[in-house]
Amino acid sequence: MVVTRFAPSPTGFLHIGGLRTALFNYLWARRNGGEFKLRIEDTDQSRNSAEATKAILEAFDWVGLYYDGEPVYQSDRFDLYKSYILKLLDEGKAYYCYMSKEELDKLREEQMAKKERPRYDGRYRDFTGTPPKGVEPVVRIKAPLEGEIVFEDGIKGTITIKADEVDDFIIARSDGTPTYNFVVAIDDALMGMTDVIRGDDHLYNTPKQIIVYEALGFELPRFYHVPMILGEGGKKLSKRDGAADVMDYKRAGYLPEALLNFLVRLGWSHGDQEIFSMEEMLEHFDPTDINASASQYNPDKLLWLNAHYIKNSSNERLAKLLEDFGLYLLSHDKREILLDIFKERCKTLAEMAEQIKEVIETPESYDEKALKKAMKGNAAEILRAFVQKIEDAAGELHLPTDYHALMENFVKEKEIGFGKIGMPLRVALIGRLGGPDLSDVMSIVGKQETVARIEKLLN
Ligand code: GLU
Repeated sequence: MVVTRFAPSPTGFLHIGGLRTALFNYLWARRNGGEFKLRIEDTDQSRNSAEATKAILEAFDWVGLYYDGEPVYQSDRFDLYKSYILKLLDEGKAYYCYMSKEELDKLREEQMAKKERPRYDGRYRDFTGTPPKGVEPVVRIKAPLEGEIVFEDGIKGTITIKADEVDDFIIARSDGTPTYNFVVAIDDALMGMTDVIRGDDHLYNTPKQIIVYEALGFELPRFYHVPMILGEGGKKLSKRDGAADVMDYKRAGYLPEALLNFLVRLGWSHGDQEIFSMEEMLEHFDPTDINASASQYNPDKLLWLNAHYIKNSSNERLAKLLEDFGLYLLSHDKREILLDIFKERCKTLAEMAEQIKEVIETPESYDEKALKKAMKGNAAEILRAFVQKIEDAAGELHLPTDYHALMENFVKEKEIGFGKIGMPLRVALIGRLGGPDLSDVMSIVGKQETVARIEKLLN
């Protein structure tokens, strides 16, 4: 069975890099009929917050990634970690180190002066004497003194680290709290991980974790270290690019399936396919196909995908989602035509809500530039004549085609270009230039409201 996990440190919101890692783990477990677990890495009480955990769970809920069992909180497991520290001490695989901070600093300085890489020199590794007074010891694990630590990374290939690059690192601080690499290895082993897919910023933690696995006789999982997502210009992904809160995408009107589709393609591909339903992701995803080089965040592609998923959503779903954007269409009599028109035109729900509101609400103000441009010359006169034309057509105006015919007729009669009526009419109806087909707008708002909006502009 394949068991994977997502292991966020709740120091802030869930950002898209984290969500991508979660998605990869989720897909791999689900594809194999395995389990996907969530572990909250909250041992650093000074940096972690309950709100951040809540925000992560909320984001998971929104995108619809579900995990097996209850989330595991590292903060609940201190006793467990302690028992493993004692076990290693007992077995002589770890030891107390009494080096003070000053001694450690001094050693570091000397090593730097000799242009050596700073590392602990193992001075308490085989210490049997009387411990110095007044120093609360840390616990260090015995790392191999020679040879190499080698592991196969499913993305990066064989990784080899010389033993002298890893020192006897601390597994318990002087206050007794366990350190990061120690607890991660224990949890991954006890939670039954078979595959660990994570950011490649953790690549050089892996040899340390392997030392812990080996000291405790645990079986190693397969590792996959995923290259990072780069922002614009190949720089580190920043808040501006969208490294922010996953929930910001919800607030901006993205559909969760668009975001997941976008993320799965950041670093992973299947031929040249761009659109992936969840079923298709599950059918094809394999972490060994993840690209070994970094991927680039492309906001236009996300918009393009979002437009695709909006276009293919049911009107009922869209109407419900648009309520978050202050638009209540569920019992609107023009709901279907409105949604049919705008789902073809809009890239986000926010844009859709805004544009539909422009149509169904009488404009409160007019775009100044548009107004100036549209109301040149005899535009007011033309609008008045058009009102008359509408009144004359009386009961014949219902469908967009009726309004279209009316306008064609009008410009022919008046011997004017379409823009002469089109521009001022647009401003009267929606407050600006651009926007959807005028015949659609008039048929949606109806004859009376069309006239009312023109008169409002004229007065
Ligand atoms: N808690 C780590 C992080 O948020 C992840 C550790 C891991 O996946 O092993 O970066």
